[in-house]
Amino acid sequence: DHTITEGSNEPRMKLEGGLLATEFDEESCLSRYHQSSLRKSSPYKPSDYLVSKLRSYEMLHKRCGPGTDAYKRATEQLGHNHVIRSSGNDECRYVVWTPMFGLGNRILSLVSDFLYALLTDRVMLVDQRNDISDLFCEPFPGISWLLPLDFPLTDQIDSFNREHSHCYGNMLKNHAINSTTIPSHLYLDIFHTSKEHDNMFFCEKDQAFIKRVPWLVVKSNLYYVPSLWLIPSFQTKLIKLFPQKDTVFHHLSRYLLHPTNQIWGMVTRSYNAYLSRADERLGIQVRVFSTPAGYFQHVMDQILSCTEREKLLPAVAIEEESQVSNTSTIPKLKAVMVTSLHPEYSDHLKNMFWERPSSTGEIIEVYQPSGERVQQTDKKLHDQKALAEMYLLSLTDKLVTSTRSTFGYVAQGIGGIKPWILYEPRHRKAPDPPCVRAMSMEPCSLKPPLSRCQAKTIKITHFIRYCEDRITGIKLV
Ligand code: GDP
Repeated sequence: DHTITEGSNEPRMKLEGGLLATEFDEESCLSRYHQSSLRKSSPYKPSDYLVSKLRSYEMLHKRCGPGTDAYKRATEQLGHNHVIRSSGNDECRYVVWTPMFGLGNRILSLVSDFLYALLTDRVMLVDQRNDISDLFCEPFPGISWLLPLDFPLTDQIDSFNREHSHCYGNMLKNHAINSTTIPSHLYLDIFHTSKEHDNMFFCEKDQAFIKRVPWLVVKSNLYYVPSLWLIPSFQTKLIKLFPQKDTVFHHLSRYLLHPTNQIWGMVTRSYNAYLSRADERLGIQVRVFSTPAGYFQHVMDQILSCTEREKLLPAVAIEEESQVSNTSTIPKLKAVMVTSLHPEYSDHLKNMFWERPSSTGEIIEVYQPSGERVQQTDKKLHDQKALAEMYLLSLTDKLVTSTRSTFGYVAQGIGGIKPWILYEPRHRKAPDPPCVRAMSMEPCSLKPPLSRCQAKTIKITHFIRYCEDRITGIKLV
């Protein structure tokens, strides 16, 4: 029985294999403790080096975070356009995360920023003007990760774009970078549409310069972790941190992301009502990217053909009678958790398995927590439901996701699940084959920021492959 109950039994010292800090108040963030009691046996253990790196990051954050003297000194530099002296070794340096695009995109860029912070000994602070604190608990012990609202650049953040005078790519293009003058801050533009100059951020030589800049403000909608692996000096550290290369998102998301009690309440209520008693749990994430989006017969056909072909769901029986008579044994219960903006896909499945028995005799229970119809990013309850559903999907045993959806990537990564990915439908037809098994649980970097400086490296790196569902994307395997 996997029912979630109050108070986890896992000894605090061993939370997530030592990944999590121990000095938290349990009641303030229940997900931190309860989650691990549900996901009994993650085969992926964090390396000792990652664990010690996280502990030293926490110390750095305590020394440099909001409200400290070091933070005050660092923000005072910001008034001046160019800081001539290079910052001393004990000066704190920062990377500021900002929310862009939907929640899945945001989580991917947040984890990427955090890894960058770990690799470069920076402190990560998050722009709190949207609903981040309605979604996640504070991840670091004793000190906030929220960028204070009176941060001197707050009013400028929204105007940062590719053309901005502090945008790194733009400065390179305008020859405004020289190694004697270190700007107090840079804006980094890391999008699927970013160009060569912005992508030079991912070159070794550029990192040597950027290292000296105290403040970096990043806007990104990408999981840019694979691009960090392609920077040689970073790769050396990354191999030590993540000997299992396809566990980066898995470990970092479990370390960093802890849904608030309100969201965890939603997760546990759904889990206990619909998933905990099942013999097997299947998640199906249906994301329709066409315009208009909605219910399409070819998408439904594709889901059914994938789940039947991969033996994830039984077919419905043709002969009804033979099934009805067989009532002596307790049938297996399979719970199917569907998430989608559109409620019709789960309605269809539910009806199908109500109107006819399954060919195997299994009982199929279908559940969809919400059907919001349209994306409403930045509406608090909408985003909370989306996050709750990502976590519910991550608690299933097997998972079907939709092509190029960051929503699905987050669920699979947190869950440590290699999903079956539904290919993108073309010309309103279900593709054949309908789906493909993912090579790894890592998110795909859909349009990775790559620079000419990396072109050679990518060919010789066997642990980075082109994505199953996106020919332009790369992922860790
Ligand atoms: P992507 O667009 O699929 O890569 O995922 P994002 O999460 O970045 O953006 C899609 C947004 O649409 C989500 O954040 C939600 O706001 C909404 N959305 C899409 N699919 C679902 C779903 O299955 N459940 C819920 N609750 N919201 C969804």
